[in-house]
Amino acid sequence: SANSALNHAKKLGRNTYQFFDKERHTLDPTELTKESALFKAITNNEFVLYFQPKYDVQHNRLHGFEALVRWPQDDGSLIYPDEFIPLAEQNGAIIPLTQLLMKQLLQQLANWQKQDVPFGNVAINISALHFQQNSLIEMLVDYLTKYNVPARCLELEITESAMMNNPEFAEQQMKRIKALGVNITLDDFGTGHSSLSYLKRFPIDTLKIDKSFVKDIDKNEQDRNITATIVRLAKYLDINVVAEGVETEEQAYMLHIMGCHYQQGYYYCKPLKAEQVANFIDKNEVDKQSVK
Ligand code: C2E
Ligand code: MG
Ligand code: MG
Ligand code: MG
Repeated sequence: SANSALNHAKKLGRNTYQFFDKERHTLDPTELTKESALFKAITNNEFVLYFQPKYDVQHNRLHGFEALVRWPQDDGSLIYPDEFIPLAEQNGAIIPLTQLLMKQLLQQLANWQKQDVPFGNVAINISALHFQQNSLIEMLVDYLTKYNVPARCLELEITESAMMNNPEFAEQQMKRIKALGVNITLDDFGTGHSSLSYLKRFPIDTLKIDKSFVKDIDKNEQDRNITATIVRLAKYLDINVVAEGVETEEQAYMLHIMGCHYQQGYYYCKPLKAEQVANFIDKNEVDKQSVK
């Protein structure tokens, strides 16, 4: 039940909290305040997912979404993930937080399916810390089964550091994820230290070019060359490639010319509330094959 899941999350939160607390030497009082607010917000399930569309530029249609967490405040404002994800990664709160988000996401996907909303596939970000735990797989199996969502609708975005900390474990973990039918994207690609041999060997479906390369793609030759090289690398390895942070028509066009046909960014759409998604899809042609 929802209640036992929450209790489970609370227990996990406490355990991970203690585990990480032991290794900590100093605690800044403001950090401590933020930390307790974070745990309280997890217990009260205050976090909300927003959904940013990913476009298939070649076929001029929606490809799917990336789910991005926000922390709504009483005054109606939002706290963005950069403000609390790093802290949650430090103190272990990221594990119960991601459990809540995964549950929320799969509930949402199940609802959209019931309403015949062709959402494509939806990606969620998984922290390196969480990726390196066996419990990730149990969590995926639990919620995919419980909400009866096809695994191919789900994609996990992990970073290069998740892969490189312990490559042997990462390879096994990715194989377990792929065995479920869930897709894997390497996020912020080009900013970390991944090894080309791992890219070839590991079951990675998609490389996501970091927005720092996209930002000045039309002005900076180096960024343009790096981006074009990543696109070519992906083609050689038979991996999909997507660009994030596309803000202008020039960037969109340049990426398209390079062969980067999946794109995401403010140029297309800002992250939407779940309630806005069905309406948004209605106005766009969607790749229905990736859903059904
Ligand atoms: P990310 O996964 O690389 O996500 C892309 C970020 O770029 C998002 O910021 C998104 O809102 C923002 N963005 C989208 N389009 C544009 C654009 O055209 N221009 C620019 N400048 N930015 C754009 P957001 O939502 O603030 O998330 C920041 C980071 O926090 C994410 O980076 C991801 O690493 C992390 N994050 C977000 N949600 C979650 C989550 O549910 N779990 C975990 N573990 N991490 C998350
Ligand atoms: Mg991401
Ligand atoms: Mg990214
Ligand atoms: Mg990023």
